[in-house]
Amino acid sequence: MRRFACVVAIVLGTGFLSGQSRLTKTLDIYVIDVEGGNATLVVAPSGESLLIDTGNAGAGAVRDATRILAAARDAGLSKIDHLIITHWHGDHYGGLVELTARIPIAHFVDHGPNAQPNRVVDEFLQDVYPKLRSSAKHTVAKPGDHLAVGGVDVRIVTSAGQVLSSPLPGAGSRNPYCASFKPGDNNAEDPQSVGSLITFGRFRTIHLGDLTKNKEFELMCPANRIGTVDVLLGLHHGQDTSNSEVLVHALHPRVAIMNNGTRKGGGPEVMKTLYSSPGLEDLWQIHFSVLSGQEYTMPGVFIANWVDDQAATMPIGPVPLPAPGDNASPLPAHNGPAHWIKVSAREDGTFTVTNERNGFSKIYQ
Ligand SMILES: [Zn+2]
Ligand SMILES: [Zn+2]
Repeated sequence: MRRFACVVAIVLGTGFLSGQSRLTKTLDIYVIDVEGGNATLVVAPSGESLLIDTGNAGAGAVRDATRILAAARDAGLSKIDHLIITHWHGDHYGGLVELTARIPIAHFVDHGPNAQPNRVVDEFLQDVYPKLRSSAKHTVAKPGDHLAVGGVDVRIVTSAGQVLSSPLPGAGSRNPYCASFKPGDNNAEDPQSVGSLITFGRFRTIHLGDLTKNKEFELMCPANRIGTVDVLLGLHHGQDTSNSEVLVHALHPRVAIMNNGTRKGGGPEVMKTLYSSPGLEDLWQIHFSVLSGQEYTMPGVFIANWVDDQAATMPIGPVPLPAPGDNASPLPAHNGPAHWIKVSAREDGTFTVTNERNGFSKIYQ
């Protein structure tokens, strides 16, 4: 204990911890629990940071901004260098006002105008958003754009309904899953999502916001323009309007980390796609989802959050998603302590994933 105190004193004395300097050589990624929304914080070894989305609007905004701030503090950040808002849905930009009141953001990236008319969103974009970013840099992302985040390369692969027009270096082989692709339905904003491929040495991870099946097909067929990744992030909360085999199986992830909610995503169809994905070693989930049941759930050790009132036993069969107007029981609540899943990746491509709730950690060599 005494030795530790001494080291801290020396470090502070030289100002080594000031600003955003960090004592790590890893790329750290925090998948933050924002209750079925998205907030993913990427921190380069240099301390430069990229936040992808800001959690939920409305009653969840303060809660989610506070949770994002806790991850930023854990990473030693005093500002967010780059923020990507993947698209204009309330579960992705919702906590932005509350977050900007708590930590400065230097650069805002988005896909441009809202494609799905909505009074709340349109008023936000007209009256609030320009003020929030008035003293910051602003970029409307285009596929092919690069963002340098410390020594980490962030390549935009989708934005505003456009996808990369040609394969990335080393990619471009024929995608065998295209022949059996079935188109899906979607709203107007999800397909606009800003998607990013993040590369650190030999480590590769991708976050596509809520990109839908039809855009997955455009990006990945007939040739796979991305190649493979080590970690697949987000997965549109694990919902079946995304996560086709043309994307998931062809990316060949070793690990997937799903930003699902207590009753949002994690249903049988997507779980089967993941469990049958070639080379997938583990799926980690931000939440236990009642849509899985014992039949489809991952072991709890890979799940970061329970619900407040966790049942003593879980039904074996998955609980179907209630239809709208079904008078369904309320969403299982989770307002207690929230936990993230953290990825620490090394330049040689190896990485560690940790469940902050139970401390369970696994090294992927
Ligand atoms: Zn979403
Ligand atoms: Zn969405």
